[in-house]
Amino acid sequence: MISSPDWVRLSFGADMVLGFSPGKFLKGALNTTINLLEYYPDGCKANCIYCGQAREVAKGPECKTLIRVEWPLRKLDDVLNRIKEREGNPEYGLQRICVGQLAHPRASPDAIEITKRIREKGIELQISELVTATYTFKQHMIEMRKAGADMIDVAIDAASKRVFDQVRGKPVRSMHRWERYIQAIDEAVEVFGKKNAGIHLIVGLGETEKEAVELIWYAHSRGAKISLFAFYPEVGTPMQNKKPVPLNVYRRIQLARWLIENDLVKLEDFTFDEEGKIVDINIPQDLSLKELAPAFMTSGCPGCNRPYSNERPGSVLKNYPWYPDEKQTLSAIKASKIPSLIKRFVN
Ligand code: SF4
Repeated sequence: MISSPDWVRLSFGADMVLGFSPGKFLKGALNTTINLLEYYPDGCKANCIYCGQAREVAKGPECKTLIRVEWPLRKLDDVLNRIKEREGNPEYGLQRICVGQLAHPRASPDAIEITKRIREKGIELQISELVTATYTFKQHMIEMRKAGADMIDVAIDAASKRVFDQVRGKPVRSMHRWERYIQAIDEAVEVFGKKNAGIHLIVGLGETEKEAVELIWYAHSRGAKISLFAFYPEVGTPMQNKKPVPLNVYRRIQLARWLIENDLVKLEDFTFDEEGKIVDINIPQDLSLKELAPAFMTSGCPGCNRPYSNERPGSVLKNYPWYPDEKQTLSAIKASKIPSLIKRFVN
């Protein structure tokens, strides 16, 4: 049967890097993580309304899009052979493999098996597990670690219980529960250790900026790192007509994430307006422009740069897959529309 663990989907970037699909990203944007996604003929069991894999959108396994691009189906063994051939070759720059789950009863045992097979092949790249907490419990996390995984991210995606329920909970005929995801963050940190566990947060699903900052603060206070994603509507989903997250909002949340994760601010350093929008951040006086630059880079596990996973090639990069230069950093600060930062760095 064509199904995980013997078969997996590959992100389009990973498919190109491994030479299954022709093409290359722009220079400087090597796809340094190989993102694998599980595959099941009966598809994903959940119904998150922003996702192309959702039960009522995909109607089975045929729909192959996720974050707007096709995820080609490949034999795991072929994928691992190609990774083994390319590992250590600077031309490809591979750093990490990410084992991504669907919401499916087999999700965790198969992720563990895929991780074992990566190590049995003798591949030494770092391995991350991207888990759905509904089907991944602490014991699975322990098994993932034993099998050879180094890091784990809990794909909570939404910034608050309010938004979580609206886009992935009961009201949209989906079975995910906010409380289980919050519990899984602590389990992930316990099993993998501080900073080796994290969350995925999608900005633009309907949260206020205050809610996003509070979740980032909470995750950081529990020892978890934060991987930020910018919402971009997926055709065919109930959210297909919702606008992508505005650049100014994303830039403010990127700044908040970076400042919080680097312990440079406290929650009291953020000023919000009555709608929960960030209007000011009290940043340390000695922070230089160069030091702020990485705030606008892709965040998450080291080596996971996800080029063009948040926008179409040609538009402004929301997550820079490289260290932004001075011009890019200035333009990102300007885009944040935070007057005090613009006055200090741009004018
Ligand atoms: S940050 Fe990248 S490697 Fe880490 S879990 Fe997320 S997608 Fe996977």
